[in-house]
Amino acid sequence: MEKTTCLIAGGGPAGLMLGLILARGGVEVTLLEKHGDFLRDFRGDTVHPTTLDLLDELGLSEEFADLPANHVDSVQLPVGGQAVLIASLRDLPGKHKYIAMVPQWDLLDLLAQAAKEESTFTLRMSTPVTGLIRENGRVAGVTYRSEQGEGEIRADLVIACDGRESTVRAAAGLDVIEWPVPFDAWWFRIPRHETDPAGIVPVLGDRRAWVMLDRFSYWQIATLIAKGSDVQARQHPVREILESLAGMAPWLSDRVDSLDSWDDVKLLHVRLDRLKKWHMPGLLCIGDAAHAMSPAGGVGINLAIQDAVAAARILAKPLKDGTVTDADLAKVQRRRIVPTIVTQGMQRVLHERGMRPALEGDLNLSNRTELPRPLRVLRRIPVLRSLPPFLVARGVLPEHAPKFARR
Ligand SMILES: Cc1cc2nc3c(=O)[nH]c(=O)nc-3n(C[C@H](O)[C@H](O)[C@H](O)COP(=O)(O)OP(=O)(O)OC[C@H]3O[C@@H](n4cnc5c(N)ncnc54)[C@H](O)[C@@H]3O)c2cc1C
Repeated sequence: MEKTTCLIAGGGPAGLMLGLILARGGVEVTLLEKHGDFLRDFRGDTVHPTTLDLLDELGLSEEFADLPANHVDSVQLPVGGQAVLIASLRDLPGKHKYIAMVPQWDLLDLLAQAAKEESTFTLRMSTPVTGLIRENGRVAGVTYRSEQGEGEIRADLVIACDGRESTVRAAAGLDVIEWPVPFDAWWFRIPRHETDPAGIVPVLGDRRAWVMLDRFSYWQIATLIAKGSDVQARQHPVREILESLAGMAPWLSDRVDSLDSWDDVKLLHVRLDRLKKWHMPGLLCIGDAAHAMSPAGGVGINLAIQDAVAAARILAKPLKDGTVTDADLAKVQRRRIVPTIVTQGMQRVLHERGMRPALEGDLNLSNRTELPRPLRVLRRIPVLRSLPPFLVARGVLPEHAPKFARR
């Protein structure tokens, strides 16, 4: 029978950061990832200053510097054809005063490579976790599927890092609080020209909002659409998406035929929820598996990574000593619940005050001559002005790499 000390389900930002730090702490870790590589579904590309600090502490900053990146140090909104600065990261405390935009598969590959250097770390790709093994009132391991067939692995502790559609948390039956989200997202790419703007370009139009991510030779575009409107939109020619975008960003008019069919446009379901209790004997959930995040503010990856660092710091010793208890798992939730509540609260405000009005056609900034009143007030008062960039870039209760993981 297969056995490990800590079984991690899911190799996203939370799972890989957790695996790396635990393995550096000498804990035997097996990570099961359902996909065959990291080059796949959209996962968001934002690497925040707190994560950049962590990469420095983990001795990975040189490898990270070799990845293709754009640095974003301000957020501008297009108002009446002009770009208006609404937040700047340049005055933040700390060494990194920007968000690095790096294709997430590159970051995950980097973390996976670093973890594989540890003799106690095992990564098994194309191996989805399919369920939980329970024994004597506790979770005792997982069942999985692989190219060789079905299997079972026993573990002292299972940590669910399998994202917002978590199989593990569904199997555990933990209670969830869910908030309605007014939008889903389309995800597609079109060619980028040398003369285009660079970095992140937000575009707010009539009942749609776009975020364009500069990936050098192409634009990766997320379009926020009203929840439930995808099916009807797909009855129309796919060209309409880009015609509508070019109406707001005329420099894209030469590319309205860039999408061949609706198959090029992926629908991403957005949800916002949180487990009441993140753990049960033998099982802990972190990252989106404990609290699914929406894209609002681009903060979910950072929160997931911070959860992983806290979990690894608190659990490495009891895991190594074979003494991990439910009280240790409760400590992880206690440490991470405040940042999670604050961050999800911020996302709910953004949904109601920004995204819902934008999708209902009440926030078409291209027709306005000035910012909406709340944003004008925010820009005028220095303390208020610096709060959103601080919350987005550094978050609440930032975590640092434990000593045993530093290089
Ligand atoms: C449309 C959209 C856009 C977003 N944009 C951003 C953004 O720009 N910036 C940002 O910070 N956040 C963004 N977020 C939120 C962000 O994606 C999540 O908060 C973050 O990815 C959570 O990380 P995680 O490691 O917990 O889970 P995930 O990143 O979801 O990783 C889960 C991993 O588990 C694997 N997995 C799933 N099921 C199984 C299984 N049964 N067995 C084994 N492996 C499994 C998956 O393949 C995946 O590798 C966005 C969210 C959405 C919905």
